[in-house]
Amino acid sequence: MTATQARPQTLLVASITEPDPPLEAQVQTCLAAGADLVELRVDCIRDEAAVERLLARSTQRRFILTVRSAEEGGHWDASESERIALIERLGLLQPGFIDVELATWLRSANVRQKLALVCQTGGEGAELDAAGPIARPRNRLILSYHDWQQTPADPDAILDRFAPTPAGVIKLAWMAEDACDGLRALELLRRRGGERPLAVLAMGEGGIAARVLAGRFGGYLTYAAARRGAESAPGQPTLAEVIGLYRWGERSPDPDVYGVIGWPVTHSRSPHVHNAALREAGIDAVYVPLPVRPEQEAFRRFIEYVCANDWLGMRGFSVTLPHKEHAWRWLCDRGGRLSPPAAKCRAVNTLTREADGRWSGDNTDGDGAVAALADALGEQGRLAGLRVEVLGAGGAARAVVAALLDRGACVVVTNRTAGRAERLADELGCQTRAWAQRGEGPLDVIVNCTSVGMEPRSDETPLPAQRLAAGMIVLDTVYTPRQTRLLREAAERGCVTVAGTEMFVRQAAAQFRRWHGCGAPLAAMRAALEVSL
Ligand code: NAP
Repeated sequence: MTATQARPQTLLVASITEPDPPLEAQVQTCLAAGADLVELRVDCIRDEAAVERLLARSTQRRFILTVRSAEEGGHWDASESERIALIERLGLLQPGFIDVELATWLRSANVRQKLALVCQTGGEGAELDAAGPIARPRNRLILSYHDWQQTPADPDAILDRFAPTPAGVIKLAWMAEDACDGLRALELLRRRGGERPLAVLAMGEGGIAARVLAGRFGGYLTYAAARRGAESAPGQPTLAEVIGLYRWGERSPDPDVYGVIGWPVTHSRSPHVHNAALREAGIDAVYVPLPVRPEQEAFRRFIEYVCANDWLGMRGFSVTLPHKEHAWRWLCDRGGRLSPPAAKCRAVNTLTREADGRWSGDNTDGDGAVAALADALGEQGRLAGLRVEVLGAGGAARAVVAALLDRGACVVVTNRTAGRAERLADELGCQTRAWAQRGEGPLDVIVNCTSVGMEPRSDETPLPAQRLAAGMIVLDTVYTPRQTRLLREAAERGCVTVAGTEMFVRQAAAQFRRWHGCGAPLAAMRAALEVSL
Protein backbone atom coordinates (compact mmCIF):
# COMPACT_ATOMS: atom_id res chain seq x y z
CA MET A 1 0.00 0.00 0.00
CA THR A 2 1.25 3.48 -0.66
CA ALA A 3 0.59 6.53 1.46
CA THR A 4 -2.00 8.94 0.15
CA GLN A 5 -2.04 12.63 0.87
CA ALA A 6 -5.68 12.54 2.00
CA ARG A 7 -6.17 14.51 5.19
CA PRO A 8 -8.20 13.11 8.06
CA GLN A 9 -11.45 14.99 8.53
CA THR A 10 -10.90 15.06 12.25
CA LEU A 11 -9.91 18.55 13.39
CA LEU A 12 -6.55 18.67 15.11
CA VAL A 13 -6.71 21.04 18.07
CA ALA A 14 -3.62 22.55 19.67
CA SER A 15 -4.21 23.42 23.30
CA ILE A 16 -2.59 26.57 24.63
CA THR A 17 -2.23 26.66 28.41
CA GLU A 18 0.34 29.39 29.14
CA PRO A 19 0.60 33.14 28.55
CA ASP A 20 4.20 33.02 27.32
CA PRO A 21 5.40 33.21 24.62
CA PRO A 22 2.80 35.84 23.64
CA LEU A 23 -0.48 34.22 22.61
CA GLU A 24 -0.36 35.54 19.03
CA ALA A 25 3.01 33.90 18.50
CA GLN A 26 1.84 30.59 19.97
CA VAL A 27 -1.29 30.61 17.81
CA GLN A 28 0.69 31.36 14.66
CA THR A 29 3.16 28.59 15.43
CA CYS A 30 0.40 26.04 16.03
CA LEU A 31 -1.57 26.93 12.90
CA ALA A 32 1.58 27.01 10.77
CA ALA A 33 2.54 23.59 12.13
CA GLY A 34 -0.77 22.10 10.99
CA ALA A 35 -3.32 22.59 13.77
CA ASP A 36 -6.84 23.19 12.47
CA LEU A 37 -8.03 24.87 15.66
CA VAL A 38 -6.42 26.35 18.74
CA GLU A 39 -7.96 25.83 22.15
CA LEU A 40 -7.45 28.75 24.53
CA ARG A 41 -7.50 27.27 28.03
CA VAL A 42 -8.24 30.55 29.74
CA ASP A 43 -8.27 28.91 33.19
CA CYS A 44 -4.65 27.80 32.67
CA ILE A 45 -3.42 30.86 30.77
CA ARG A 46 -4.63 33.08 33.63
CA ASP A 47 -4.36 36.27 31.60
CA GLU A 48 -7.88 37.18 30.53
CA ALA A 49 -6.78 40.53 29.09
CA ALA A 50 -4.28 38.82 26.77
CA VAL A 51 -6.96 36.39 25.56
CA GLU A 52 -9.38 39.26 25.02
CA ARG A 53 -6.80 41.21 22.98
CA LEU A 54 -6.04 38.14 20.89
CA LEU A 55 -9.70 37.46 20.10
CA ALA A 56 -10.44 41.13 19.43
CA ARG A 57 -7.62 41.33 16.86
CA SER A 58 -8.26 38.01 15.20
CA THR A 59 -10.35 37.74 12.07
CA GLN A 60 -10.35 33.93 12.14
CA ARG A 61 -12.84 31.85 14.06
CA ARG A 62 -10.44 29.02 14.65
CA PHE A 63 -10.48 29.04 18.43
CA ILE A 64 -12.06 26.90 21.10
CA LEU A 65 -12.69 29.01 24.17
CA THR A 66 -12.46 26.95 27.35
CA VAL A 67 -12.63 28.19 30.93
CA ARG A 68 -12.62 24.83 32.65
CA SER A 69 -14.17 24.50 36.08
CA ALA A 70 -12.11 23.00 38.90
CA GLU A 71 -14.64 20.22 39.43
CA GLU A 72 -13.95 18.94 35.90
CA GLY A 73 -10.19 19.14 36.22
CA GLY A 74 -9.66 22.80 35.28
CA HIS A 75 -7.83 25.57 37.10
CA TRP A 76 -10.58 28.17 37.45
CA ASP A 77 -10.47 29.38 41.05
CA ALA A 78 -12.89 32.32 41.10
CA SER A 79 -16.67 32.10 41.36
CA GLU A 80 -18.95 30.27 38.95
CA SER A 81 -20.84 33.44 38.09
CA GLU A 82 -17.55 35.15 37.16
CA ARG A 83 -16.64 32.17 35.01
CA ILE A 84 -19.92 32.30 33.09
CA ALA A 85 -19.61 36.07 32.73
CA LEU A 86 -16.10 35.65 31.33
CA ILE A 87 -17.25 33.00 28.84
CA GLU A 88 -20.00 35.35 27.73
CA ARG A 89 -17.68 38.35 27.40
CA LEU A 90 -15.01 36.45 25.46
CA GLY A 91 -17.68 34.58 23.50
CA LEU A 92 -18.93 37.90 22.10
CA LEU A 93 -15.54 38.17 20.36
CA GLN A 94 -16.43 35.15 18.23
CA PRO A 95 -13.76 32.58 18.95
CA GLY A 96 -15.59 29.98 16.83
CA PHE A 97 -16.25 27.28 19.46
CA ILE A 98 -17.05 27.44 23.15
CA ASP A 99 -16.45 24.40 25.36
CA VAL A 100 -18.64 24.13 28.44
CA GLU A 101 -19.16 21.15 30.73
CA LEU A 102 -22.41 19.20 30.32
CA ALA A 103 -22.93 19.51 34.08
CA THR A 104 -22.71 23.30 33.82
CA TRP A 105 -25.20 23.36 30.98
CA LEU A 106 -27.68 21.19 32.83
CA ARG A 107 -27.29 23.04 36.14
CA SER A 108 -29.44 26.14 35.59
CA ALA A 109 -31.72 27.77 33.10
CA ASN A 110 -29.95 31.04 33.81
CA VAL A 111 -26.59 29.65 32.74
CA ARG A 112 -28.15 28.09 29.65
CA GLN A 113 -29.67 31.43 28.70
CA LYS A 114 -26.33 33.22 29.09
CA LEU A 115 -24.51 30.64 27.01
CA ALA A 116 -27.25 30.74 24.41
CA LEU A 117 -26.45 34.41 23.87
CA VAL A 118 -23.10 33.45 22.38
CA CYS A 119 -23.70 29.95 21.04
CA GLN A 120 -25.77 28.34 18.30
CA THR A 121 -28.24 26.55 20.47
CA GLY A 122 -31.59 26.96 18.86
CA GLY A 123 -32.95 27.19 22.38
CA GLU A 124 -33.28 30.10 24.75
CA GLY A 125 -30.89 32.21 22.65
CA ALA A 126 -32.98 31.79 19.52
CA GLU A 127 -35.97 33.10 21.37
CA LEU A 128 -33.93 36.13 22.44
CA ASP A 129 -32.89 36.76 18.82
CA ALA A 130 -36.47 36.56 17.72
CA ALA A 131 -37.34 39.15 20.34
CA GLY A 132 -34.95 41.78 19.06
CA PRO A 133 -32.64 42.84 16.26
CA ILE A 134 -29.37 42.27 18.16
CA ALA A 135 -27.05 40.10 16.04
CA ARG A 136 -25.40 37.72 18.48
CA PRO A 137 -22.24 35.81 17.64
CA ARG A 138 -23.06 32.20 17.00
CA ASN A 139 -20.17 30.12 18.23
CA ARG A 140 -20.55 26.35 18.09
CA LEU A 141 -21.23 24.86 21.46
CA ILE A 142 -19.06 21.97 22.61
CA LEU A 143 -20.56 20.25 25.62
CA SER A 144 -18.05 18.14 27.47
CA TYR A 145 -17.85 15.46 30.14
CA HIS A 146 -14.69 14.44 31.99
CA ASP A 147 -13.90 11.49 34.23
CA TRP A 148 -10.43 12.03 35.65
CA GLN A 149 -10.45 8.79 37.63
CA GLN A 150 -11.39 5.98 35.27
CA THR A 151 -13.01 4.77 32.11
CA PRO A 152 -16.77 4.83 32.69
CA ALA A 153 -18.37 1.41 32.88
CA ASP A 154 -21.23 2.58 30.66
CA PRO A 155 -20.11 5.41 28.35
CA ASP A 156 -23.25 4.98 26.24
CA ALA A 157 -25.37 6.03 29.21
CA ILE A 158 -23.26 9.17 29.59
CA LEU A 159 -23.59 9.92 25.91
CA ASP A 160 -27.35 9.54 26.18
CA ARG A 161 -27.40 12.40 28.69
CA PHE A 162 -26.35 14.78 25.89
CA ALA A 163 -29.35 13.83 23.77
CA PRO A 164 -31.70 16.65 24.88
CA THR A 165 -28.98 19.32 24.72
CA PRO A 166 -28.29 21.54 21.72
CA ALA A 167 -24.56 20.66 21.69
CA GLY A 168 -22.98 21.24 18.29
CA VAL A 169 -20.18 18.93 19.36
CA ILE A 170 -20.20 16.35 22.14
CA LYS A 171 -16.93 15.68 23.91
CA LEU A 172 -16.22 12.84 26.34
CA ALA A 173 -12.84 12.51 28.05
CA TRP A 174 -11.93 9.74 30.46
CA MET A 175 -8.86 8.43 32.17
CA ALA A 176 -7.48 5.31 30.53
CA GLU A 177 -5.69 2.95 32.85
CA ASP A 178 -4.17 1.12 29.94
CA ALA A 179 -4.43 0.68 26.18
CA CYS A 180 -7.69 -1.30 26.41
CA ASP A 181 -9.45 1.70 27.98
CA GLY A 182 -8.00 3.84 25.20
CA LEU A 183 -9.34 1.58 22.49
CA ARG A 184 -12.80 1.75 24.08
CA ALA A 185 -12.81 5.42 23.10
CA LEU A 186 -12.47 4.34 19.47
CA GLU A 187 -15.18 1.73 19.96
CA LEU A 188 -17.60 4.39 21.20
CA LEU A 189 -16.70 6.70 18.32
CA ARG A 190 -17.30 3.93 15.85
CA ARG A 191 -20.64 2.99 17.38
CA ARG A 192 -22.09 6.42 18.10
CA GLY A 193 -20.07 8.89 16.02
CA GLY A 194 -22.72 9.13 13.32
CA GLU A 195 -25.33 10.64 15.63
CA ARG A 196 -23.75 14.06 16.16
CA PRO A 197 -20.20 15.44 15.91
CA LEU A 198 -18.44 13.52 18.66
CA ALA A 199 -14.99 13.63 20.23
CA VAL A 200 -13.98 10.84 22.60
CA LEU A 201 -10.62 11.32 24.26
CA ALA A 202 -8.79 8.90 26.50
CA MET A 203 -6.43 10.58 28.94
CA GLY A 204 -3.19 9.06 30.17
CA GLU A 205 -0.61 7.16 28.19
CA GLY A 206 -3.17 4.47 27.42
CA GLY A 207 -5.07 6.99 25.32
CA ILE A 208 -2.36 7.99 22.85
CA ALA A 209 -3.47 5.43 20.26
CA ALA A 210 -7.06 6.64 20.50
CA ARG A 211 -6.00 10.27 20.03
CA VAL A 212 -3.82 9.44 17.05
CA LEU A 213 -6.41 7.16 15.44
CA ALA A 214 -9.47 9.38 16.05
CA GLY A 215 -9.56 10.20 12.34
CA ARG A 216 -10.04 6.57 11.48
CA PHE A 217 -13.35 6.46 13.32
CA GLY A 218 -14.70 9.90 12.53
CA GLY A 219 -13.75 11.61 15.79
CA TYR A 220 -14.65 15.26 15.34
CA LEU A 221 -11.72 16.64 17.33
CA THR A 222 -8.44 15.40 18.72
CA TYR A 223 -6.20 17.46 20.98
CA ALA A 224 -2.45 18.00 21.19
CA ALA A 225 -0.29 20.12 23.48
CA ALA A 226 1.40 23.19 22.03
CA ARG A 227 4.64 21.98 23.60
CA ARG A 228 5.92 19.28 25.95
CA GLY A 229 5.28 20.31 29.54
CA ALA A 230 2.21 22.40 28.60
CA GLU A 231 -0.33 19.57 28.24
CA SER A 232 -3.93 20.33 29.13
CA ALA A 233 -4.50 16.65 30.03
CA PRO A 234 -2.23 13.78 31.03
CA GLY A 235 -0.88 11.67 28.20
CA GLN A 236 -1.59 14.36 25.63
CA PRO A 237 0.98 14.15 22.84
CA THR A 238 2.47 17.37 21.52
CA LEU A 239 1.39 18.85 18.21
CA ALA A 240 4.85 18.07 16.85
CA GLU A 241 4.45 14.42 17.88
CA VAL A 242 0.99 14.00 16.39
CA ILE A 243 2.10 15.51 13.09
CA GLY A 244 5.72 14.35 12.92
CA LEU A 245 5.97 11.15 14.90
CA TYR A 246 2.44 9.82 14.29
CA ARG A 247 2.24 11.04 10.69
CA TRP A 248 -1.00 13.03 10.94
CA GLY A 249 -1.96 14.36 7.52
CA GLU A 250 0.77 12.36 5.82
CA ARG A 251 -1.02 9.01 6.02
CA SER A 252 -4.61 8.25 5.11
CA PRO A 253 -7.25 8.47 7.84
CA ASP A 254 -7.54 4.71 7.61
CA PRO A 255 -4.03 3.36 8.07
CA ASP A 256 -2.95 -0.12 9.15
CA VAL A 257 -2.01 0.01 12.81
CA TYR A 258 1.07 -1.38 14.52
CA GLY A 259 2.31 -0.77 18.03
CA VAL A 260 4.46 -1.70 20.97
CA ILE A 261 2.88 -3.57 23.90
CA GLY A 262 4.69 -3.18 27.23
CA TRP A 263 4.55 -1.69 30.72
CA PRO A 264 5.74 0.97 30.81
CA VAL A 265 6.15 2.02 27.17
CA THR A 266 6.45 5.79 27.60
CA HIS A 267 10.16 5.70 27.01
CA SER A 268 10.12 3.16 24.19
CA ARG A 269 11.94 4.34 21.09
CA SER A 270 10.06 1.87 18.89
CA PRO A 271 7.44 4.42 17.73
CA HIS A 272 10.24 6.72 16.54
CA VAL A 273 12.05 3.98 14.68
CA HIS A 274 9.03 2.26 13.10
CA ASN A 275 7.18 5.42 12.10
CA ALA A 276 10.36 6.75 10.47
CA ALA A 277 10.66 3.49 8.55
CA LEU A 278 7.00 3.62 7.46
CA ARG A 279 7.47 7.18 6.25
CA GLU A 280 10.64 6.34 4.35
CA ALA A 281 9.00 3.31 2.72
CA GLY A 282 5.79 5.23 1.91
CA ILE A 283 3.57 2.72 3.71
CA ASP A 284 0.11 3.80 4.81
CA ALA A 285 0.40 2.74 8.44
CA VAL A 286 1.11 4.15 11.88
CA TYR A 287 2.83 2.70 14.94
CA VAL A 288 1.64 3.62 18.43
CA PRO A 289 2.54 2.92 22.09
CA LEU A 290 0.18 0.48 23.81
CA PRO A 291 0.71 0.31 27.57
CA VAL A 292 -0.74 -2.93 28.91
CA ARG A 293 -0.62 -3.60 32.66
CA PRO A 294 2.10 -6.05 33.69
CA GLU A 295 -0.01 -9.08 34.62
CA GLN A 296 -0.38 -11.98 32.20
CA GLU A 297 -4.16 -11.61 32.48
CA ALA A 298 -3.94 -7.97 31.34
CA PHE A 299 -1.97 -9.03 28.28
CA ARG A 300 -4.53 -11.68 27.48
CA ARG A 301 -7.40 -9.21 27.91
CA PHE A 302 -5.76 -6.73 25.57
CA ILE A 303 -4.90 -9.17 22.82
CA GLU A 304 -8.31 -10.86 22.99
CA TYR A 305 -9.91 -7.43 22.68
CA VAL A 306 -7.86 -6.77 19.55
CA CYS A 307 -8.83 -10.19 18.15
CA ALA A 308 -12.51 -9.55 18.81
CA ASN A 309 -12.42 -6.10 17.21
CA ASP A 310 -10.88 -6.51 13.82
CA TRP A 311 -12.18 -3.10 12.75
CA LEU A 312 -9.30 -1.59 14.77
CA GLY A 313 -7.04 -2.46 11.86
CA MET A 314 -4.26 -3.75 14.11
CA ARG A 315 -1.79 -5.77 12.08
CA GLY A 316 1.26 -6.32 14.26
CA PHE A 317 2.89 -5.63 17.60
CA SER A 318 6.32 -5.34 19.06
CA VAL A 319 6.23 -6.92 22.51
CA THR A 320 8.50 -5.71 25.24
CA LEU A 321 8.92 -6.17 29.00
CA PRO A 322 7.13 -7.76 30.79
CA HIS A 323 4.97 -9.38 28.10
CA LYS A 324 7.34 -11.38 25.90
CA GLU A 325 6.68 -14.59 27.79
CA HIS A 326 2.96 -13.78 28.11
CA ALA A 327 2.75 -13.45 24.32
CA TRP A 328 4.51 -16.78 23.89
CA ARG A 329 2.13 -18.48 26.34
CA TRP A 330 -0.94 -16.94 24.70
CA LEU A 331 0.12 -18.20 21.29
CA CYS A 332 0.88 -21.66 22.69
CA ASP A 333 -2.60 -21.82 24.26
CA ARG A 334 -4.21 -20.71 21.01
CA GLY A 335 -2.18 -23.02 18.84
CA GLY A 336 -0.69 -20.02 17.05
CA ARG A 337 2.40 -20.33 14.87
CA LEU A 338 5.77 -19.70 16.57
CA SER A 339 8.98 -19.12 14.65
CA PRO A 340 11.90 -21.37 15.67
CA PRO A 341 13.70 -18.61 17.66
CA ALA A 342 10.48 -17.72 19.52
CA ALA A 343 9.76 -21.37 20.27
CA LYS A 344 13.33 -21.93 21.40
CA CYS A 345 13.53 -18.99 23.79
CA ARG A 346 9.87 -19.23 24.86
CA ALA A 347 9.50 -15.52 24.36
CA VAL A 348 7.83 -13.48 21.61
CA ASN A 349 8.86 -9.93 20.74
CA THR A 350 6.90 -9.72 17.48
CA LEU A 351 3.23 -10.56 16.88
CA THR A 352 1.91 -10.58 13.35
CA ARG A 353 -1.65 -10.87 12.15
CA GLU A 354 -1.51 -13.14 9.14
CA ALA A 355 -3.66 -12.80 6.03
CA ASP A 356 -5.99 -15.54 7.34
CA GLY A 357 -6.57 -13.55 10.54
CA ARG A 358 -4.47 -15.77 12.77
CA TRP A 359 -1.64 -14.42 14.89
CA SER A 360 1.92 -15.68 14.82
CA GLY A 361 4.93 -14.96 17.00
CA ASP A 362 8.61 -14.33 16.31
CA ASN A 363 11.60 -13.26 18.30
CA THR A 364 13.91 -10.87 16.45
CA ASP A 365 16.14 -9.92 19.42
CA GLY A 366 18.65 -12.70 18.73
CA ASP A 367 18.82 -11.98 15.00
CA GLY A 368 19.24 -8.29 15.82
CA ALA A 369 22.24 -9.00 18.05
CA VAL A 370 23.79 -11.40 15.56
CA ALA A 371 23.35 -8.94 12.66
CA ALA A 372 24.99 -6.18 14.71
CA LEU A 373 27.90 -8.48 15.61
CA ALA A 374 28.29 -9.69 12.04
CA ASP A 375 28.78 -6.09 10.92
CA ALA A 376 31.52 -5.61 13.50
CA LEU A 377 33.24 -8.82 12.36
CA GLY A 378 33.79 -7.27 8.97
CA GLU A 379 33.92 -9.09 5.69
CA GLN A 380 33.79 -12.67 6.89
CA GLY A 381 30.99 -11.84 9.37
CA ARG A 382 31.10 -15.39 10.67
CA LEU A 383 30.35 -16.29 14.27
CA ALA A 384 30.96 -20.03 13.86
CA GLY A 385 33.65 -21.23 16.26
CA LEU A 386 34.03 -17.91 18.06
CA ARG A 387 34.19 -18.02 21.88
CA VAL A 388 31.35 -15.86 23.15
CA GLU A 389 30.46 -15.06 26.74
CA VAL A 390 26.93 -13.85 27.44
CA LEU A 391 26.38 -11.90 30.66
CA GLY A 392 22.83 -12.39 32.00
CA ALA A 393 20.16 -15.06 31.74
CA GLY A 394 16.95 -13.08 31.27
CA GLY A 395 14.77 -12.72 28.17
CA ALA A 396 17.36 -10.90 26.05
CA ALA A 397 20.06 -13.43 26.98
CA ARG A 398 17.84 -16.35 25.96
CA ALA A 399 17.24 -14.87 22.53
CA VAL A 400 20.89 -13.92 22.00
CA VAL A 401 22.23 -17.30 23.16
CA ALA A 402 19.81 -19.19 20.91
CA ALA A 403 20.81 -17.09 17.87
CA LEU A 404 24.53 -17.43 18.61
CA LEU A 405 24.27 -21.20 18.98
CA ASP A 406 22.37 -21.31 15.73
CA ARG A 407 25.34 -19.62 14.02
CA GLY A 408 27.79 -22.15 15.48
CA ALA A 409 29.36 -19.96 18.18
CA CYS A 410 30.78 -21.56 21.37
CA VAL A 411 28.68 -19.90 24.03
CA VAL A 412 29.20 -19.66 27.77
CA VAL A 413 26.58 -17.98 29.97
CA THR A 414 27.18 -16.29 33.29
CA ASN A 415 24.58 -14.71 35.53
CA ARG A 416 24.35 -13.17 38.98
CA THR A 417 21.75 -15.80 39.86
CA ALA A 418 23.56 -19.01 38.94
CA GLY A 419 20.45 -21.22 38.85
CA ARG A 420 18.90 -19.10 36.10
CA ALA A 421 22.05 -19.42 33.96
CA GLU A 422 22.04 -23.18 34.50
CA ARG A 423 18.43 -23.51 33.43
CA LEU A 424 19.10 -21.48 30.30
CA ALA A 425 22.22 -23.53 29.49
CA ASP A 426 20.34 -26.81 30.00
CA GLU A 427 17.48 -25.77 27.76
CA LEU A 428 19.52 -24.25 24.96
CA GLY A 429 22.66 -26.41 25.20
CA CYS A 430 25.64 -24.27 26.19
CA GLN A 431 28.18 -23.90 29.03
CA THR A 432 27.94 -21.81 32.20
CA ARG A 433 30.55 -19.93 34.18
CA ALA A 434 30.42 -18.53 37.74
CA TRP A 435 29.49 -14.85 37.85
CA ALA A 436 32.68 -14.09 39.83
CA GLN A 437 34.72 -15.41 36.89
CA ARG A 438 32.95 -13.47 34.16
CA GLY A 439 35.27 -12.17 31.47
CA GLU A 440 38.09 -14.55 32.42
CA GLY A 441 39.81 -16.84 29.96
CA PRO A 442 40.29 -16.40 26.24
CA LEU A 443 37.22 -14.85 24.66
CA ASP A 444 36.48 -13.41 21.23
CA VAL A 445 33.16 -11.76 22.03
CA ILE A 446 31.37 -10.53 25.16
CA VAL A 447 27.66 -9.67 25.02
CA ASN A 448 26.10 -7.89 27.97
CA CYS A 449 22.48 -9.01 28.32
CA THR A 450 22.05 -7.75 31.88
CA SER A 451 20.37 -4.45 32.53
CA VAL A 452 23.45 -3.18 34.41
CA GLY A 453 24.57 0.23 33.15
CA MET A 454 21.12 1.26 31.97
CA GLU A 455 19.82 4.74 32.79
CA PRO A 456 19.47 6.03 35.43
CA ARG A 457 22.32 3.88 36.84
CA SER A 458 24.63 4.55 33.93
CA ASP A 459 27.73 4.78 36.17
CA GLU A 460 27.58 0.98 36.67
CA THR A 461 29.16 -1.73 34.54
CA PRO A 462 28.56 -5.50 34.53
CA LEU A 463 32.26 -6.30 33.99
CA PRO A 464 35.45 -5.09 35.70
CA ALA A 465 37.42 -3.09 33.11
CA GLN A 466 40.64 -5.12 33.64
CA ARG A 467 38.90 -8.18 32.17
CA LEU A 468 38.49 -6.48 28.83
CA ALA A 469 41.30 -7.47 26.44
CA ALA A 470 42.33 -5.64 23.27
CA GLY A 471 40.82 -7.13 20.13
CA MET A 472 37.68 -8.51 21.81
CA ILE A 473 34.32 -7.57 20.37
CA VAL A 474 31.99 -6.17 23.04
CA LEU A 475 28.25 -5.77 22.42
CA ASP A 476 26.19 -4.07 25.09
CA THR A 477 22.48 -4.70 24.56
CA VAL A 478 21.73 -1.75 26.88
CA TYR A 479 21.02 1.24 24.63
CA THR A 480 20.08 3.96 27.06
CA PRO A 481 22.58 5.57 27.33
CA ARG A 482 23.95 5.10 23.83
CA GLN A 483 27.54 4.99 25.14
CA THR A 484 27.47 2.82 28.27
CA ARG A 485 30.30 2.66 30.75
CA LEU A 486 31.05 -0.90 29.53
CA LEU A 487 31.43 0.30 25.93
CA ARG A 488 33.54 3.30 26.97
CA GLU A 489 35.95 1.15 28.98
CA ALA A 490 36.04 -1.49 26.23
CA ALA A 491 37.00 1.14 23.64
CA GLU A 492 39.71 2.51 25.98
CA ARG A 493 41.18 -0.99 26.19
CA GLY A 494 41.29 -1.54 22.46
CA CYS A 495 38.14 -3.66 22.04
CA VAL A 496 35.81 -3.37 19.06
CA THR A 497 32.54 -2.04 20.45
CA VAL A 498 29.00 -2.59 19.22
CA ALA A 499 26.27 -0.38 20.67
CA GLY A 500 22.89 -1.67 21.83
CA THR A 501 21.33 0.87 19.46
CA GLU A 502 22.60 -1.18 16.54
CA MET A 503 20.98 -4.33 17.91
CA PHE A 504 17.80 -2.36 18.56
CA VAL A 505 17.64 -1.07 14.99
CA ARG A 506 18.38 -4.53 13.59
CA GLN A 507 15.66 -6.25 15.62
CA ALA A 508 13.20 -3.52 14.58
CA ALA A 509 14.29 -3.97 10.95
CA ALA A 510 13.54 -7.69 11.20
CA GLN A 511 10.06 -6.84 12.53
CA PHE A 512 9.56 -4.39 9.68
CA ARG A 513 10.47 -7.04 7.08
CA ARG A 514 8.17 -9.53 8.77
CA TRP A 515 5.19 -7.14 8.73
CA HIS A 516 5.62 -5.34 5.45
CA GLY A 517 7.36 -7.94 3.32
CA CYS A 518 9.99 -5.50 2.06
CA GLY A 519 13.48 -4.41 3.01
CA ALA A 520 13.75 -2.11 6.03
CA PRO A 521 15.13 1.42 5.53
CA LEU A 522 17.97 0.96 8.02
CA ALA A 523 19.52 4.40 7.65
CA ALA A 524 16.22 6.17 8.38
CA MET A 525 15.58 3.90 11.36
CA ARG A 526 19.06 4.49 12.75
CA ALA A 527 18.74 8.24 12.31
CA ALA A 528 15.34 8.30 14.04
CA LEU A 529 16.69 6.33 16.98
CA GLU A 530 19.70 8.65 17.32
CA VAL A 531 17.47 11.73 17.35
CA SER A 532 15.14 10.18 19.93
CA LEU A 533 17.90 9.30 22.41
P1 NAP B 1 15.35 -9.47 32.27
O1 NAP B 1 14.70 -10.66 31.68
O2 NAP B 1 14.72 -8.75 33.40
O3 NAP B 1 16.82 -9.90 32.73
C1 NAP B 1 17.67 -9.02 33.42
C2 NAP B 1 19.06 -9.63 33.54
O4 NAP B 1 19.90 -8.64 34.15
C3 NAP B 1 19.10 -10.87 34.45
O5 NAP B 1 20.07 -11.74 33.97
C4 NAP B 1 19.53 -10.27 35.79
O6 NAP B 1 20.20 -11.16 36.63
C5 NAP B 1 20.51 -9.21 35.32
N1 NAP B 1 20.73 -8.19 36.33
C6 NAP B 1 19.86 -7.22 36.70
N2 NAP B 1 20.42 -6.44 37.65
C7 NAP B 1 21.66 -6.94 37.87
C8 NAP B 1 22.73 -6.56 38.72
N3 NAP B 1 22.65 -5.51 39.53
N4 NAP B 1 23.88 -7.27 38.66
C9 NAP B 1 23.98 -8.33 37.85
N5 NAP B 1 23.01 -8.74 37.01
C10 NAP B 1 21.86 -8.04 37.03
O7 NAP B 1 15.60 -8.36 31.15
P2 NAP B 1 15.90 -8.59 29.58
O8 NAP B 1 14.66 -8.51 28.79
O9 NAP B 1 16.75 -9.78 29.43
O10 NAP B 1 16.71 -7.25 29.25
C11 NAP B 1 18.05 -7.10 29.66
C12 NAP B 1 18.67 -5.91 28.96
O11 NAP B 1 18.67 -6.11 27.56
C13 NAP B 1 17.91 -4.60 29.19
O12 NAP B 1 18.83 -3.59 29.49
C14 NAP B 1 17.26 -4.32 27.86
O13 NAP B 1 17.12 -2.93 27.60
C15 NAP B 1 18.23 -4.94 26.91
N6 NAP B 1 17.63 -5.27 25.62
C16 NAP B 1 18.09 -4.63 24.54
C17 NAP B 1 17.57 -4.90 23.31
C18 NAP B 1 18.10 -4.18 22.12
O14 NAP B 1 17.50 -4.29 21.05
N7 NAP B 1 19.21 -3.48 22.23
C19 NAP B 1 16.55 -5.86 23.16
C20 NAP B 1 16.09 -6.51 24.30
C21 NAP B 1 16.64 -6.21 25.53
P3 NAP B 1 19.39 -12.03 37.73
O15 NAP B 1 18.85 -13.21 36.98
O16 NAP B 1 20.41 -12.37 38.72
O17 NAP B 1 18.32 -11.14 38.29
